[in-house]
Amino acid sequence: MIVLKFGGTSVGNAENIKKVVAIVNACNENKIVVLSAVSGTTNVLVEINKLLADDKKDDVIILINKLELNYHELVNELFSSENHKLKALSFIKNKFEELHSYINKTYQNEKIILAQGEIISTHLFQIYQNELGNTSLLISALDFMSIDTHEEPDSASIKTKLVSLLSDNNDIETFITQGYICTNHKGEIDNLKRGGSDYSASLIGAAIDAKEIQIWTDIDGMHNNDPRFVENTFSIDEMTFDEAAELAYFGAKILHPQSIIPAQKNNIPVLLKNTFSPNDKGTIIKNCSPSNGVRAIAAKDGIIAIKIKSYRMLMAYGFLKNIFEVFEKYQTAIDMITTSEIAVSLTIDNDTYLTEILEELQILGNVTVDKQMSIVCLAGNFSQNEKGISASVLNCLKDIPIRMISYGGSNYNMSLLIASEDKVNTLKLLNKGLF
Ligand code: ADP
Ligand code: ASP
Ligand code: MG
Repeated sequence: MIVLKFGGTSVGNAENIKKVVAIVNACNENKIVVLSAVSGTTNVLVEINKLLADDKKDDVIILINKLELNYHELVNELFSSENHKLKALSFIKNKFEELHSYINKTYQNEKIILAQGEIISTHLFQIYQNELGNTSLLISALDFMSIDTHEEPDSASIKTKLVSLLSDNNDIETFITQGYICTNHKGEIDNLKRGGSDYSASLIGAAIDAKEIQIWTDIDGMHNNDPRFVENTFSIDEMTFDEAAELAYFGAKILHPQSIIPAQKNNIPVLLKNTFSPNDKGTIIKNCSPSNGVRAIAAKDGIIAIKIKSYRMLMAYGFLKNIFEVFEKYQTAIDMITTSEIAVSLTIDNDTYLTEILEELQILGNVTVDKQMSIVCLAGNFSQNEKGISASVLNCLKDIPIRMISYGGSNYNMSLLIASEDKVNTLKLLNKGLF
């Protein structure tokens, strides 16, 4: 069995949905098709939640009505039979009545509201499959996808539930399901965070031990640099799981930060493909040889750098342990870390407990904080026998102030911390100097 995931743009309008159907039907394997919400929908749902929190009900009504009109347009363009068009419109009507019903509820329905995008896209897709006479079965991700008390996917439960769902329907060749949405440990609707449909696809692939996980998007694979900021980037034919995982975690938007891990654990190749140019080779992520030198570059914004200078001048026994305990207490992950004899610098991207963390760190040493920083991650082969790579990286950046360098943590990554205002320039300079 294989998994095919299509992102928001791929299901973004009637014309694109037709392209997705063609790709799905051209695939002769048994498959699970994972769909994102129609592009823009989740952003609108996020906005609705914000407005509801601010009690701006009139603005919410305007937004909901505008979104509903978009779906009417999509349905009118997608369906040709009156019968299926009416079915789709009636489904849309119910869903938008439901959205309106949350306006006057006193309790928070934030996660339920966020889930509606994927619920709508998959239902419309299934009705369209029916119109075309294609056999497929829509299964609800809420029946098998779940996260535990730490908001981590509950792999064992996902596997048991999904495998049983599939074996109850073993005559079906094509299953359709939602990306992004799940239930939490209380059984409530929740999600895998923004961009989470990639993660759903990978978790599903791992649960069914898929032959391959295909991520279909709006670009021809993983590029060597961020195409949103740098010209003349190119698609990479193949890369290792480690390289892809680093790039995803450190900002390559094409993949959700955690999405490579389930595939890697189960050694399932991940193929990145372009819905709008299906003949392009794309990128295959699998166990393969590491690159010669730098394979690709990504950057992650919203980083906070914290420096703690020990009051005792020398790196005292237990100093690091005490620092880490503060971050553990506030469940805040550290991304980068560098040390000197008297000080430690580290970075976090989650500022939920920043005030509390800083208060406790001040007991241990003199603390300074830099906000609006970015991590630039270079993935590739940095093993000791690859001479000169770090020198050529730093050589490109003679004019960029570098706040931290992390090198040697693994053989396949080098990370630099810079001010976010220098990010685009840094990516461009590295592109010019390294590729
Ligand atoms: P989807 O909606 O299909 O999940 P995303 O917008 O989440 O698509 O991801 C695809 C986008 O990721 C591309 O359009 C591209 O702008 C962006 N991107 C950022 N870094 C990279 C990279 N290194 N390679 C390819 N795409 C990248
Ligand atoms: N619809 C969700 C989002 O926009 C999930 C996804 O597209 O992967 O974040
Ligand atoms: Mg995405």
